[in-house]
Amino acid sequence: MEIQKITDDIHLIQLGGLESNIYLIKKKVLIDAGLGFHKKILEKALTTLDITPDEIERIIFTHAHYDHIGGASSFKNAKIAIHTDDAQVLETGDSTKSCAFAFGKDLTKTKVDLKLFDSDTIRIDNIALKVIHTPGHTEGSICLYDKDKKILFTGDTIFSDAIGRTDLPGSDEQEMKQSLDLLKTLHVTTILPGHGKIIEKDAEASINNTIKMYSY
Ligand SMILES: [Zn+2]
Repeated sequence: MEIQKITDDIHLIQLGGLESNIYLIKKKVLIDAGLGFHKKILEKALTTLDITPDEIERIIFTHAHYDHIGGASSFKNAKIAIHTDDAQVLETGDSTKSCAFAFGKDLTKTKVDLKLFDSDTIRIDNIALKVIHTPGHTEGSICLYDKDKKILFTGDTIFSDAIGRTDLPGSDEQEMKQSLDLLKTLHVTTILPGHGKIIEKDAEASINNTIKMYSY
């Protein structure tokens, strides 16, 4: 397990293996929740940061894949937010589109408290995160953009050296191309992806290089 302080307000928790990156914002909001295969270790990470799972007020999912949503059941007070186009995956317990089957799991039906739309702004105290709908990896994939700090949470749309898969149920290669074109227009310094290492400088060049690698 590794904890990395990215800014005063953002911590990255990495549990390793197939777990998604988990970002803790202001010690009360999570962006993605991991698989849920390492609950005790995640709890320990939060303890290190002086909080308990019950203090998590909200979880924003970048998309409805099991490696990002499976861990949500640890946080009983958290309201769930996800893009409207991926919300049904949670509400119906869709083990195919969530890829739960790939992890040997069935997805249980999960209530969605807030359905997100493109251009919505999520406020966490003095932080404003703009929802950017970036379908392609899944129908309801989003990036979250802090325009002030030029930070972009990219989920599984783009990583430090790769783009998200487009061969999964609900994926769409053409939509991915359009989403990547959109990301190229943003002013970004830091990329906080759904897996792997973060990028803390020259993020725009990194986005362009990665997209070029895939001939998109
Ligand atoms: Zn994914």
